[in-house]
Amino acid sequence: MEVAAPLARPRRRALFVDRDGTLNPDLHYLKDAERLELYRGVGRALALAHDCGWAVVCVTNQSGVERGFYTEADVARIHARLNDRLARSGGRIDAFYHCPHAPEHGCRCRKPGTELFERAATDLELDLPTSAILGDRVLDAEAGRRLGMRTALVRWPGHDAEVAAEFRARGIVPDVRADSVEGAVRRLLALG
Ligand SMILES: [Mg+2]
Ligand SMILES: [Zn+2]
Repeated sequence: MEVAAPLARPRRRALFVDRDGTLNPDLHYLKDAERLELYRGVGRALALAHDCGWAVVCVTNQSGVERGFYTEADVARIHARLNDRLARSGGRIDAFYHCPHAPEHGCRCRKPGTELFERAATDLELDLPTSAILGDRVLDAEAGRRLGMRTALVRWPGHDAEVAAEFRARGIVPDVRADSVEGAVRRLLALG
């Protein structure tokens, strides 16, 4: 009797997105979900990625938890509101992963550490080498580069000189640069 080999389920590509400064203005240690606002076009951009079959996963450093500025429950409320807001324009984040530690903790989950991405890949059956990360800082791109992913930098007006210096210092050139999340997502998707 011949037994068919089990078909390997194809792993999905993911668009990993940073949170603060990428999806929403960075209000620095945001505690109150009511204050969260999204940048324009973010929901539509994430919907485009879903339309192409990509999972959308948010990976965010939230050292304010360990520093005592806000709690895990505050973070959960912010993420629920984020998805509420995204839903108005058809967008959705499939899963959130956050590092609650301060940098001096020396954990492996704080970006540019890769642990949260690896956890997401296991949980959601993602293919990291064909995935991409979109962020506003070099630590986002550095995490992506360590995992062999495409990297996209979203640049907001007034942010450029500081961020450009960070990238130069780390010797990283992002694959995509755009002035908006939607522009960055469209360019990433066009890379195939
Ligand atoms: Mg950021
Ligand atoms: Zn951590």
